[in-house]
Amino acid sequence: MARVHGKDTAPELFVRQTAHSLGYRFRIHRADLPGRPDMVFPSRKKVIFIHGCFWHRHKECKRASVPQTRQEYWLKKFALNVARDKLNVAALIEAGWEVLVLWECGLRNRDSVVRELRTFLEAPTSECVSTPSLTRACPAARPAPTLTRRGDEVLARQRQGRKYSKQPGRADRANS
Ligand SMILES: [Zn+2]
Repeated sequence: MARVHGKDTAPELFVRQTAHSLGYRFRIHRADLPGRPDMVFPSRKKVIFIHGCFWHRHKECKRASVPQTRQEYWLKKFALNVARDKLNVAALIEAGWEVLVLWECGLRNRDSVVRELRTFLEAPTSECVSTPSLTRACPAARPAPTLTRRGDEVLARQRQGRKYSKQPGRADRANS
C-alpha cells in the first residue's frame, strides 16, 4: 500500500484537535522524516504516530484481526507494515527524535489523550513506558528492533548516508 496512514483519519483528527486545544504547535506528515510522522513537534524534537490497530498490528488487540480470505496475502502485508514501522522508529531515534505511538483503540476519551500528550510532550528527558494502548520509544532505551532479514537490508541502505529530505517515501517503496 502506498500509505499505511491513509488520509486524515478520525483518530488523527481527534489527537490533533486535542493537542491544538492545549496550545501545542506541530506539523503534520512531514515528508522529510522517516515514516512521515502524523504529528511533529520540531522544537521538542518529538514525533507522534497515531496508528490504526488493524494496519499496524496492535499486539493482542481485537481490532488487529486477520481477514478470513487471502490470509497469506494479508499476513505478508502486515509483516511488511510492522517491519516498516520498526525501521521508521529506529531511524527517527537514530536521528535524535523521541517517538510516541498512540493506538486508535486507546483514543476513546479526551482526558486520557490529554494526559498522554502532556506526559510525552512535557517530559524534559526520555522516560520510556509501555502500556497496552501505548508504546513509547526513546533514545535512552533504544531497544534493538527485531528486524526481518529484509528489514535489515533496508536499514543498512538507510544508514548509507541517505538523506530523507531528498527522497521522501523511499523507505515505503523499498519495502513495498
Ligand atoms: Zn488496539
